[in-house]
Amino acid sequence: MLASRLMGPKDVRVEEAQEPVVTTPDSATVDVTVTAICGADLASYWGYVPGFEWGTIMGHEFVGVVRDVGDAVKTVKPGDRVMVSSMTSCGHCWYCRRSMQPQCENRALYGFSGAYPRLDGGQAGTAFIPNADRDLWPLPASVSDEAAVFVADILSTAYRGVERANLAYGDDVAVVGCGPVGLMAIMVAKLAAGRVIALDTVQDRLKSAESLGAIPVEADEAAVEAVKGMTGSRGVDAVIECAGGAPALTTAMQLARPRGVVSVIGAHFEPDFCLDAGTMFANETTLLISIGAPTDDREKVLRLVESGRIDPVPVISHRMKLEEAAEAYRIFEAREATKIILTP
Ligand SMILES: [Zn+2]
Ligand SMILES: [Zn+2]
Repeated sequence: MLASRLMGPKDVRVEEAQEPVVTTPDSATVDVTVTAICGADLASYWGYVPGFEWGTIMGHEFVGVVRDVGDAVKTVKPGDRVMVSSMTSCGHCWYCRRSMQPQCENRALYGFSGAYPRLDGGQAGTAFIPNADRDLWPLPASVSDEAAVFVADILSTAYRGVERANLAYGDDVAVVGCGPVGLMAIMVAKLAAGRVIALDTVQDRLKSAESLGAIPVEADEAAVEAVKGMTGSRGVDAVIECAGGAPALTTAMQLARPRGVVSVIGAHFEPDFCLDAGTMFANETTLLISIGAPTDDREKVLRLVESGRIDPVPVISHRMKLEEAAEAYRIFEAREATKIILTP
């Protein structure tokens, strides 16, 4: 089979690789039909992940068809169309038993190594699934592979971020960052919000946000005042921060009204972020951070897709062959693509 391996910073190579086989009673193999490139992949692509093992097969967003299962696997069988949760979890640790999948003591992210134990990913012809009953979920016939690949990670992450913001119907919601995750958050927030205000510095992304029904605001120095101007000088009821990094979180904190909620799903690595605890105290601000829990949330998210209330497929900007993975990463890094789907 072919597999897309990261051999060094910005060095993706698609090469022949050994096909994985079922090695334990709980494991399975899945023939991949659709896989996607995610913003999270860029951290390893740029060489920012300490301890990353060069040669790891990339890809944590993928769907496919079950090829083989171990003796103990009960919920899927060969031939089933399945989505794969982007992060594996054991199902029996203290956190898993309390539905806190992202904190599983045995977690690992497909297509990653270093930050977690190495787990080869789904940008390959076939993928190894260590814990099939946890990680695999059969797909209804009405949900396409392309739609399901969003449920594997970013749509489920957006769902978690919006759900934790505890919106009331009609709330004003700001979404900071209109990359693929932000666009998912806009779709989910729109299920309840009165208005969704979208902030980004990139015009094309604001146009995408507007096409989904959000009010676009350029994220410049005047952005916070512009949003306050729309909300009686108060700020919004809830902010979904989807960009990651200190400037986005700073903006998000400024956009929330007193007693507002800031729900963060953007990735953060800065250990020295300066939090204005005095203002947070005076304003009774709630700050929530979520990694996303696709295993815990996939059933509900799939129902939103199956019912047609959310359609993530229009966010796909490029469809390419797995063989073109190196070029795909290049244009994704250059922000020439919103969301790239690869087919093995
Ligand atoms: Zn992802
Ligand atoms: Zn666990």
